Amino acid sequence: MMSDLRGKRALVTGGSRGIGAGIAEALAKAGADVAVTYETSAGRSGEVVARIERLGGRGFAIQADSADPAAVRRSVDEAAETLGGLDILVNNAGIGRAGPVAEIPLADIDALLNVNVRAVVLASQAALSHLPDGGRIVSIGSTLAERVPFGGLTVYSLTKSALVSFNKGLARELGPRGITVNLVHPGSTDTDANPATGPNAEAQLGFNALGRFGKPEDVGAAVVFLAGPSGRQITGSAITVDGGANA
Ligand code: NDP
Repeated sequence: MMSDLRGKRALVTGGSRGIGAGIAEALAKAGADVAVTYETSAGRSGEVVARIERLGGRGFAIQADSADPAAVRRSVDEAAETLGGLDILVNNAGIGRAGPVAEIPLADIDALLNVNVRAVVLASQAALSHLPDGGRIVSIGSTLAERVPFGGLTVYSLTKSALVSFNKGLARELGPRGITVNLVHPGSTDTDANPATGPNAEAQLGFNALGRFGKPEDVGAAVVFLAGPSGRQITGSAITVDGGANA
């Protein structure tokens, strides 16, 4: 396991905290060098870089707002330059904006689409010139891409289900190069965006077969599996890491 990703170079968007930080550290534990992007958390991304380096990998932090197309493209090129290539792209950066369709403001709809959808398309596009044959793209969706058991996150859910067809189409386009393209759908995962002790936690646990929130490293483990040699025959697919919430 330790050597699965030795020599591989990865970029994780939104890797300063939460699930992205868990993914970055899981990749580093498996032997990869890892660059992370962040929007505002310079200090916390520095801590993630320090943890990657303690695990024996090279780590870099790149400030890049996923809502800004030029910044997204630049961050992918910068990661490839700094790491000396790019084998694995993980599209993790994402935002939540709650509110029923009757009330959600245009600014929130635009932010959701720009960060959760457009940035995934643009980062994947920018990665194409860097990824070698056999490279990997993994994007972080959500259980809400497939089942929406309550209202209030309808537009957010739309952004995540958009990734389902993007994932399948891109897998077809990149299959000839042996590049795999997959999703990981987290369920309730303990982060700043969705704390296990937050006001909405109990309602979420009502859906959860295991009766507990996931941790960022649970999502990280699925990403490492897809990114490693064991995942070579899996593409256009998705792994759900949700404690059985969608069962
Ligand atoms: P957090 O809010 O805890 O962390 C978000 C991360 O993304 C941070 O590193 C943040 O950077 C970065 N980010 C946010 N907006 C931008 C932006 N505009 N540009 C660059 N980076 C940005 O979220 P989670 O860890 O909970 O979520 C990570 C992913 O997992 C998201 O795609 C989310 O939709 C998905 N997900 C989460 C679930 C959960 O229960 N937590 C469930 C299902 C899916 P900074 O620190 O600088 O703000």
